[in-house]
Amino acid sequence: MTSLRITYYSADFDEATWISGLQAAIPGAQVSLWQPGAPVADYAVVWKPPQQMLDEQAGLKAIFNTGAGVDALMKLKLPAGVPVIRLDDAGMAVQMAEYVCHAVIRHFREFDGYEADMHKGKWSFRKPRSRADYPVGVLGLGVLGERVAKAVAQFDFPVNGWSRSPKALDGVQCFSGEQGLDAFLAASRVLVCLLPLTRDTENLINAQRLAQLQAGGYVINVARGAHVVDADLLAAIASGHVAGATLDVFRTEPLPPDHPFWTCPQLTLTPHTSARTLRSESIAQIARKIAALQNGQSVAGLVDTGRGY
Ligand code: NDP
Repeated sequence: MTSLRITYYSADFDEATWISGLQAAIPGAQVSLWQPGAPVADYAVVWKPPQQMLDEQAGLKAIFNTGAGVDALMKLKLPAGVPVIRLDDAGMAVQMAEYVCHAVIRHFREFDGYEADMHKGKWSFRKPRSRADYPVGVLGLGVLGERVAKAVAQFDFPVNGWSRSPKALDGVQCFSGEQGLDAFLAASRVLVCLLPLTRDTENLINAQRLAQLQAGGYVINVARGAHVVDADLLAAIASGHVAGATLDVFRTEPLPPDHPFWTCPQLTLTPHTSARTLRSESIAQIARKIAALQNGQSVAGLVDTGRGY
């Protein structure tokens, strides 16, 4: 029997450790770095591959994306009939939950204000806020959004969720589809974005949508920069309707030095770090999925290329 051939390419991740990790996790497989002209492999494991790789590897059994978001891959011409499989969770959901809970609580409990007071040597209490006045709306109730919504609900905030198809989640008031968006926004003060970036979700967080949030809103974007219209967010903050935002993702990364976000005091910025791809968890998941596919079984994380996620 010939061994499985796996071709690897990543625009970001360290090649040598991924290749040796995949090799160790899939005994007997031949794992190699993709090179132009390389023979067609059984499986590709990729992050932001070049179009040439997909063109040359058209006979693959499946393409594994080493991230949860496939928007970069969806911009390419994919080989016909080859399934695309993304990471589902693989250690990212708990990271998202801690990042978002931290951002919600930091804002709600005014920890920035206390820190500023501390630096001035000032002892002063702020009036406690009511959780009922800070309903949190989570856009996207997938693998990451569901975990985040449930984690925020654990702190007794009212939680709303929005997805494409109708859902029922304990402790989360669920809304769905275009027709559910207005009511979802009207019911939310803190807006968390965990949507995939698709033609339907790009620029979703714009002036009109921000105006629909409850007054004194707060935005937490941990999905993709292009979900937010930057100028509209800055205008909503300047008007006072939105109190501020925590942003982990940007239209251009790294965020350009002259971008106005850097100097807006109501913003907290992090460098696309809310949920990192964890190498060993991800490799273990990909290895399990390859074994399942080889046995003719279905796997989670199959991307619907028609809808773009
Ligand atoms: P999933 O595919 O599991 O979930 C996506 C959710 O969004 C689903 O609930 C889906 O609805 C909903 N959705 C998609 N399109 C629409 C639409 N048009 N209208 C309403 N709801 C919609 O993805 P994950 O939870 O795994 O990941 C979400 C995103 O998080 C990724 O695509 C990626 O962009 C981002 N991400 C960011 C990271 C970071 O470090 N900042 C790290 C990892 C991911 P339905 O359930 O009905 O299909």
